[in-house]
Amino acid sequence: MPEGPEIRRVADQLNRAVQGKIAERVSFGQAHLEARTGEMAGRRVLSIRPRGKALLTRFEDGPVLYTHNQLYGKWVTCAPGKPPPTRRTLRVAIETADRWALLYSASDIEVLEEGELDRHPFLAKLGPDLLEADTTPRKLRKRLDAARFRRRALGGLLLDQGFVAGIGNYLRSEILFFAGLSPKLRPEDLDDEERAALARTMRAVIQRAYRTGGVTELSQLAKRARAAGEPRRFWRHAVFNRGGKPCRRCGTKIRRILVASRQLYLCRECQPA
Ligand SMILES: [Zn+2]
Repeated sequence: MPEGPEIRRVADQLNRAVQGKIAERVSFGQAHLEARTGEMAGRRVLSIRPRGKALLTRFEDGPVLYTHNQLYGKWVTCAPGKPPPTRRTLRVAIETADRWALLYSASDIEVLEEGELDRHPFLAKLGPDLLEADTTPRKLRKRLDAARFRRRALGGLLLDQGFVAGIGNYLRSEILFFAGLSPKLRPEDLDDEERAALARTMRAVIQRAYRTGGVTELSQLAKRARAAGEPRRFWRHAVFNRGGKPCRRCGTKIRRILVASRQLYLCRECQPA
């Protein structure tokens, strides 16, 4: 499942292809949506923005196209009339004069009015997006202090998209490692400085992953592992996917445990409970 940084990079790619251009034709692979193509065709594509793991495509004076890739959806951009060879089912096509944006395989697609977004069953539950500029460390600190979040263990809390949107499984392990915190700790176990440091680390790690295309570990040791030809999964992250390998800070073996039904990797020495 892609996480916040990967989804934002897809949105960037789509914006480069069709933002600001007239959608000459919009079509859907699902019959119930086909009746609504006229509301978008001929209108300018204003923006494509991530909201949690969904994308919202806005059309000038038109509706908002909601798409969620779930596990299988895939966006592709191409020259007009030159879709890639694929056996996937085409679900959405946004065609401009010089670039097309095509969504394959996804089935979670809706055409909404701007005013419906706040009531949407998925969107309404989302916390602030960790990659948005206005999700500042200060705002995150306040959220960590809030009564509904402060007594929950960080291991589960960080994955909760209602707390903040954008953190998936690799980012959870990496944020906790770089913050030096055990997943068992709760916000209320931390002092003010530790909560502030966690908020800063959350932002820093997700921004790094966005910039680098998913690489969260930039130490010299990781760079050397990369140069030595180690498999990608061993140098991309500090702890995630590195079970049994030595921690690059202290040499302790990285452990893999299950937290909130998903794999979490940690160094017990650097992240004491
Ligand atoms: Zn360590």
